[in-house]
Amino acid sequence: MNTVIVIGGGIAGLTTAIALQQQGITALVYEAASDLKPIGKGIWMPTNAMLALQRLALDRAMLQKGVPLDRLELRDSAAGMLSVIDLSQMRATFGHTTVAIRRADVHQALIERIRPATLHLGKQCIGFSLRDDRVTAHFADGTTATGDLLVGADGINSVIRQTLFPNAQLRYSGQSCYRGIARMSLPASLQQVAWEVWGGAHRFGFSAIAFDQVYWYAPFIAPPGSKLSSDQRVARLIQHYATFPDPIPAIIQHTVADEIITTDLYELAPLPHWWQGRVALVGDAAHAMTPNLGQGGAQAIEDALALAEQLVRCSTITAGLQAYERQRLPRARRIVQTARWYGRIAHLQDDRLRRLRNLAIRATPAWVSRSQLRWLYGLGW
Ligand SMILES: Cc1cc2nc3c(=O)[nH]c(=O)nc-3n(C[C@H](O)[C@H](O)[C@H](O)COP(=O)(O)OP(=O)(O)OC[C@H]3O[C@@H](n4cnc5c(N)ncnc54)[C@H](O)[C@@H]3O)c2cc1C
Repeated sequence: MNTVIVIGGGIAGLTTAIALQQQGITALVYEAASDLKPIGKGIWMPTNAMLALQRLALDRAMLQKGVPLDRLELRDSAAGMLSVIDLSQMRATFGHTTVAIRRADVHQALIERIRPATLHLGKQCIGFSLRDDRVTAHFADGTTATGDLLVGADGINSVIRQTLFPNAQLRYSGQSCYRGIARMSLPASLQQVAWEVWGGAHRFGFSAIAFDQVYWYAPFIAPPGSKLSSDQRVARLIQHYATFPDPIPAIIQHTVADEIITTDLYELAPLPHWWQGRVALVGDAAHAMTPNLGQGGAQAIEDALALAEQLVRCSTITAGLQAYERQRLPRARRIVQTARWYGRIAHLQDDRLRRLRNLAIRATPAWVSRSQLRWLYGLGW
């Protein structure tokens, strides 16, 4: 194979280009935006993402910029601690823990690793055509790009997916989410700890991403399409999280109102396949999920690595794409389902159900959680 055309310069597209280039394949990335401004403030790169990045020699770059986390504490806003996930055990088992990092730093690390002239900005793909074992991407500015394989890494509203699978459906999760970065330092005891606090319709998670910056996210039950001004958003946050434990109210106070973003949370109904002919999907284009397990970006990175490895391992493109789908689709599908289920139990509003849920979580034996985490955080290949 000579050339792969990658549509989309997010985590999935950039990592796919790096993984292909590492295998000696020419990969060119076409991104619609005229400059790359990653949306989303911070991100937790879980152990499985770090293991895949290690194979691409990118784990050190993430560690240099981010904060490795030792513990994830799960709390109920009224009942207190529900469980503690000892992330340092993952480091002992796999060699990496979860790293909390600014999204801009992730993108920067990826862009620094792609070969010169790989990334083409301002190229909005509007479709593709197939001819003589070649595939051509068509862009809104009238230009085209031709290669042996086209990879759709164009995110949750993927044009490439829509062309391959016109019946694919996005489903609203019932939740929207505020995100921000607070300019403040956490107490020393929380510097390498992440929290997620459940409070019925409202939830709040945070961790340090630098010694003086705290990334936070706040999902809440709501219809899609909220149009609040930044001041109204802050007023809402202050009101809803006033009874949440410290330091949550302070984190909200230390965030610049205009920098808070709102994202309605959707997932993609499972696709039957992730490829057709000479076109494949990676990342949110293939398996957009609710962010409840912090795995969307991680799964995109796993896709990138698996796709590049299978294309090189197999003798034809078709065999490579079949092997890629076999390797990745069942795992990603299970994670999408688990994330959806987690989002539902996190937002139980009935007090009796909340108490039962809390009892069940506290009674879960440590070995059960450990084996689930090993499955989630292990790369598995
Ligand atoms: C609230 C929230 C919190 C999250 N937290 C985490 C976390 O902690 N850990 C984690 O692993 N994941 C997390 N995720 C998920 C993660 O953000 C996504 O799964 C990941 O960003 C998907 O990357 P992608 O490259 O597939 O898509 P995107 O990031 O959407 O990138 C797609 C790119 O394609 C471009 N594009 C789109 N259409 C076209 C076109 N027609 N032509 C050319 N270019 C196009 C876009 O401009 C964009 O740059 C979270 C998500 C949310 C919403």
